[in-house]
Amino acid sequence: MISSINGRTRVIGIFGHPVEHSFSPAMHNAAFAHLGLDYVYVPFPVNPRNLAGAVEGIRSLDLAGVNVTIPHKSAVLELLDEVSPEAGLIGAVNTIFNDNGILKGYNTDAAGFVTSLERDRGVTPHGKRVLILGAGGAARAVSVQLALAGAELITFSTPFPEETAVLKKVITGSTNTAVGEVGWDRGELAGCLNETDILVNATPVGMHPATGEMPPVPLDSLPGDALVCDLIYNPGETMLLKKAKERDLAVLNGLGMLLYQGALAFRLWTGVEAPLGVMRQTLEKQLYSS
Ligand code: NAP
Repeated sequence: MISSINGRTRVIGIFGHPVEHSFSPAMHNAAFAHLGLDYVYVPFPVNPRNLAGAVEGIRSLDLAGVNVTIPHKSAVLELLDEVSPEAGLIGAVNTIFNDNGILKGYNTDAAGFVTSLERDRGVTPHGKRVLILGAGGAARAVSVQLALAGAELITFSTPFPEETAVLKKVITGSTNTAVGEVGWDRGELAGCLNETDILVNATPVGMHPATGEMPPVPLDSLPGDALVCDLIYNPGETMLLKKAKERDLAVLNGLGMLLYQGALAFRLWTGVEAPLGVMRQTLEKQLYSS
């Protein structure tokens, strides 16, 4: 955000319900201020019954674009003019770009995770065997993007196996990645972990305030060069990551996914590379400095 809003300032926002918890306004406004870009990012609490009107408002008010968060990520798809192939497969949009009245939807959450994997840990998904804990929205986004990036095998573990049927169909129908399932217990997971390159926790287990909890993963079964990822960013080090570090395994938390989804959206809206350092610092200050 520049020092004063004026007649030329472009508006970007986030549609959510609730939206008060979002770190995106602070992250994007810090980036606009750093680059002296004449944009402002504001929260829009949008009740689900008003979503269609809010989306039409992007056009009516000539917003540059918006982020979309819970609970609108899937419902918004049918309200847009265009949806990227990735977002279509994932079935969720988190970023809308207003291209001169044409509303284009993207999923930068998914690409944000893979970017974090590559930039923050130097790991590329191609040919990797991945075990994903959970089968909700984040698991779907991450698994589809990993499959599109050439992962060899994606195995899902969830206490509710019926959830994986849709994911299996989407991935095998559109990529060459093999899909497996494994039960949510230490015995079954142990058998799968010893052939896993990347483990991803896409459940809320271990998230603030239940920071003492962790999924039932026998980390001793993972190969020594495996990477353990947690999509959770609060706390910055979940119990799963703490235990993995104690085993000298490489770890990655969810902060990078949050950062890069924002950076990719920033680029779509402004056409300018996002200032990653400023955005990361802002997130870390908001999340971890109290
Ligand atoms: P979601 O749609 O509710 O899915 C969560 C998944 O975890 C579902 O499969 C759910 O099963 C399962 N689950 C929930 N509680 C569980 C438990 N106690 N034990 C085992 N499995 C459980 O949530 P989401 O949106 O995918 O988010 C998942 C995680 O990713 C959250 O921690 C969220 O903070 C994180 N996330 C991070 C980012 C980022 O930018 N870093 C972005 C999005 C999400 P049921 O559906 O049967 O309950």
